[in-house]
Amino acid sequence: MFEPEDSRSTLFAEILLPVPIPKLFTYRVPAKLNDHVRTGQRAIVQFGDRKVLTGLIYNVHETPPKDYEAKYILEVLDEFPSVTDVQLKFFQWMADYYMCTMGEVMNAALPAGLKLSSESMVQLHPAFSLEESEHAFSEKEQMLLKRLQHDTLTYSEIAKFLGVKYIYSILKSLTGKNAIVLFEEVKEKYKPRTEKRIRLTAEMNKEEALEELFKTLSSKPKQESVVLKYLQEVPVLHDHANNKTGITKKDLLTDDISESSLHTLIKNNVFEEFEIVVPRFGFEEAHEVPVVLLSEEQQRAQGEIFKSFEQHNITLLHGITGSGKTEIYINLIKKALESDAQVLYLLPEIALTTQIVQRLKKVFGPAMGVYHSKFSDNERVEVWNGVLSGKLKFVTGVRSSVFLPFDNLGLIIIDEEHDASYKQQEPAPRYHARDAALVMAQLHHAKVLLGSATPAVETYYHAEQNKYGLVRLDKRFGDAQLPEIVLADMGEERKRKTIKGEFSGLLLKNIGEALSLKEQVIIFQNRRGYSPMVNCEDCGWVPKCVNCAVSLTYHQFRNAMVCHYCGYREALKSNCPVCTSTRITTVGYGTEKLEEELKLHFPDASVQRMDLDTTRSKTGYDSIIEQFETGQTQVLVGTQMVTKGLDFDKVSLVGVFNADRMMHFPDFRSYERAYQLITQVSGRAGRRDKKGKVVIQTSSPEHPVLTHILHHHYQEFYRREVDDRKQHSYPPFSRLIEITVKHIDKKACRDAAVMLAEQLRTHLQGVRILGPGEPMISKIRNQFLMSVLIKIPRGKSDLVQIKTIIQQHIDQVLKEKIFRNARIICDVDPV
Ligand code: ADP
Ligand code: ZN
Ligand code: ZN
Repeated sequence: MFEPEDSRSTLFAEILLPVPIPKLFTYRVPAKLNDHVRTGQRAIVQFGDRKVLTGLIYNVHETPPKDYEAKYILEVLDEFPSVTDVQLKFFQWMADYYMCTMGEVMNAALPAGLKLSSESMVQLHPAFSLEESEHAFSEKEQMLLKRLQHDTLTYSEIAKFLGVKYIYSILKSLTGKNAIVLFEEVKEKYKPRTEKRIRLTAEMNKEEALEELFKTLSSKPKQESVVLKYLQEVPVLHDHANNKTGITKKDLLTDDISESSLHTLIKNNVFEEFEIVVPRFGFEEAHEVPVVLLSEEQQRAQGEIFKSFEQHNITLLHGITGSGKTEIYINLIKKALESDAQVLYLLPEIALTTQIVQRLKKVFGPAMGVYHSKFSDNERVEVWNGVLSGKLKFVTGVRSSVFLPFDNLGLIIIDEEHDASYKQQEPAPRYHARDAALVMAQLHHAKVLLGSATPAVETYYHAEQNKYGLVRLDKRFGDAQLPEIVLADMGEERKRKTIKGEFSGLLLKNIGEALSLKEQVIIFQNRRGYSPMVNCEDCGWVPKCVNCAVSLTYHQFRNAMVCHYCGYREALKSNCPVCTSTRITTVGYGTEKLEEELKLHFPDASVQRMDLDTTRSKTGYDSIIEQFETGQTQVLVGTQMVTKGLDFDKVSLVGVFNADRMMHFPDFRSYERAYQLITQVSGRAGRRDKKGKVVIQTSSPEHPVLTHILHHHYQEFYRREVDDRKQHSYPPFSRLIEITVKHIDKKACRDAAVMLAEQLRTHLQGVRILGPGEPMISKIRNQFLMSVLIKIPRGKSDLVQIKTIIQQHIDQVLKEKIFRNARIICDVDPV
């Protein structure tokens, strides 16, 4: 009845490899691994002739491939799967939905530390001898063979040693002559953090032994004091088990304790040095935090959320800024954790401020992991493994934390769900973390709470249609009131000549008042640098990037003009290269210029700037926040970064620049963006006991979007917006796929786009195809761009089929010889 062990069938594994080829690869499982291979383990396989890659075992079966002999798996890296079944399903969904390969999804999902670097190594063939070989060798070959008598070298080391770029032909010739062998050295990149510590040796960790020791040390006071210090810090006499973890050298060696005495004691077997693995996270203990009692409003909202979850898996919490959403989240997270489910709390990239994380850490301590792109790779591997092993039940993280290996998610909270930074732009997968999290939740049968003061139009629409539950929180916590918002009419002020530099008289007056009351001010301008444009006053020349179709932004602190798309920079010219005029001026203004003007207007105030340029490091951001929090900084000028997540007590005034530019940006979402950004930053004004004030500078004070903002009328804003979307068939009434063709040749770019659009028009029914047209920026990094937009009516069309057809035609265009160097990118649900 039972088959004997050795006649068991041969197993094959489908392996997912990090290559942009949309298929899985079949490998044969070595018999000795038959009992060990499992879906989700990492495996090393040979790919092509010389490459060794790390892949994921996708499934295991008994069917050999039809047309070729499968190669063996070289090694299986994990004892237990690194990736769960649910994750693999999720990867598959993402690849299908966002039109990319599983390999690309895997690449985005796994922290680099879990991928392996493989470097080809070259060594002399063990049976080879240069003197006895019958073959002839070139000079270069001989040089290399001599070197290889002593060393094993990587490809790149050989190229360097021989001073040639392409060594493949040399290596091929040498392999043919049986002179060398190639192999792959695979290194694990992840390194646990270890710490060197000191403890008593096992023989010493006994009372009698210590007594003896002190007798011998009585004439050696320096060594004696080391031992005494140790006993004081590590009370082994109280309990010998304390010796196990010992003490760090740093803690033992204080001023009056010498290192050389310690070394003598180590040499004499009194102490020993050892290493332990220490986690990068989780040292903070959960503090006793004062219990926060939810207000009546918050309790009602929380009750409604629970109730809503009975009918809806997804619920939107629409709560104005300062209404106390975070406390409700904390309660929900606690409840979910109590029922032993895992929790994911998603935050947009910028908003993952120390403030929120610190608050959560105080409540949840080491049970919470933090997953952030600014963390090092080792730190990320640790969170990954923590989730996998079940040690971390709760993770707070940005976009990429949807990839973590949860196996029992009960709740996902998506804070600031409207935020555009949830969407990954480049490279593939171009996914939206909110939408992906909704799918993830479905796979786990988890509940989702979306939170926002200014929900995305799409989200609010689904709530209105009763697809999502909806809970409101319309009052600020405590007695805090919404800020008073006023408009500075720039047209009017220009007439009255009350504008100074870029500042309206109204805003200047308010800043002055706030400063004299020792209150703080936030200035929001969504553009970094000094001036977005430079030009010649005489002939109108504008310096442009040499690689992109954009004008260069002037940065004063670098004294250079910089391209924000490719990083190209050049010095500011004193003469116009066209007409030689010296009248070169800057046009428009960014955060840097506002900072400078503020310092002129208010020389006594301390002004700080927060934008991409001042926050490149992890600590840059934190220290700016801290200085503002402690009142060292009075005025904070910044880009989007100042608009969210910050909760400061003494900010009484917010100034908003360039509302007009936000509103008139040519995109169907520009009104929504403007509404969200301005409302969000306004929310920073006046918390708790004092009503704040917001001044918006605008040349179109009658604009309906501003009117809605002024009166905090989200519903009215939404109504207008959604009607407009319906009329023009934009999301949520359609789905969009944006196809971008890139080519270094302008004509080839256009021709490829035209061909693609024509084919799609012929073969896709029931959709609208717009373009091809030049996108707003028509050249980036020397690649010309053309785009085609596809509008797919919602509900009626077969999305899967449409995507298949699109992909077929893209492949066809790329097969044309003239378009071989084109790249064609699909962005599903572009943001
Ligand atoms: P939101 O995220 O909705 O903008 P927050 O959660 O940041 O609002 O809350 C606003 C302020 O009110 C914070 O300073 C917070 O500490 C405080 N707060 C909210 N709820 C409570 C509560 N139940 N008890 C005490 N303070 C609260
Ligand atoms: Zn000129
Ligand atoms: Zn550029």
